Amino acid sequence: METIVVNPHGFCEGVVKAIALAKKAKREHPNEEIHVIGMLVHNEEVTKKLANEGLIFHDEKEKPLFDQLSSLKDGSVIVFAAHGHEPRLDKLAKEKNMTIYDATCEFVNSNAKSIKDEISKGHEVIYIGKEGHAESVGAIGIDSKKVFLCDPSKENTFWHSIKDPSPAVVSQTTMDLADLYFAKKALSVLFPKARFKDERCFATKKRQEALYKVGEDVDVFVILGSCTSNNTMKLCSIAKDNFPKADVYRINSMEELKAVKLEGKKRVALASGASTSPEFFNKVNDYLRKYKASNK
Ligand code: SF4
Repeated sequence: METIVVNPHGFCEGVVKAIALAKKAKREHPNEEIHVIGMLVHNEEVTKKLANEGLIFHDEKEKPLFDQLSSLKDGSVIVFAAHGHEPRLDKLAKEKNMTIYDATCEFVNSNAKSIKDEISKGHEVIYIGKEGHAESVGAIGIDSKKVFLCDPSKENTFWHSIKDPSPAVVSQTTMDLADLYFAKKALSVLFPKARFKDERCFATKKRQEALYKVGEDVDVFVILGSCTSNNTMKLCSIAKDNFPKADVYRINSMEELKAVKLEGKKRVALASGASTSPEFFNKVNDYLRKYKASNK
């Protein structure tokens, strides 16, 4: 059995920076509570480790982040997560005189800037993204009357509300090429003068392109990452849609790896989302190597 390592893999730069910033906050405020607003990065193992080091996580699934931030005492130390947040959270944190460590990734910030620029020029913006994802929530939160969500996995009705004949189209950084292609195709029929901006980040783009290039004769895809990681889920759908004969597994722990059926398989592609640690990637790679050695 041959293992094909799909590159790049492991943490992207944005995730590395977010983890380092959260640790820095703890180092600089050793005697204070450090509150992480939202899922710092989409990796449960990392979150667990940081929680063990004393960081307190506020998950948007439990309660709106605005309410959770409101309930913190003035002057708290907070860390904003990598995939962005609504601008009203910045305002609130400043009003409450909080010490802010902002781990928002530069690609997410660049998207937000482009949305703000369009709005300041009087345009409306169509945002192609996943409903409920932190990045989409942050983008819509810039101005919910001017930014309209287009979620390719849902039935969308937003276009009835758009008045701008030439809206800008901005997309979430972790969308996949196929979803974007079809969404843009549909939007260009509805809005022939729409202006499209490809805002996928390099980490997402490179991982997706590498997966498309993996040969037809792969029997099994092992894709590492959490179900909360949009870019991981997109890698899984690319593998399923483009290599229908292959088995596709999304794996988030060594325990889950045991469910992967390798018997009789000749080529296994090993890939990962951008919030998978290199340690976990290497462990899985070792496991596949050992399996190969013991089944020669
Ligand atoms: S996946 Fe892209 S947008 Fe998300 S943190 Fe990594 S580099 Fe930034």
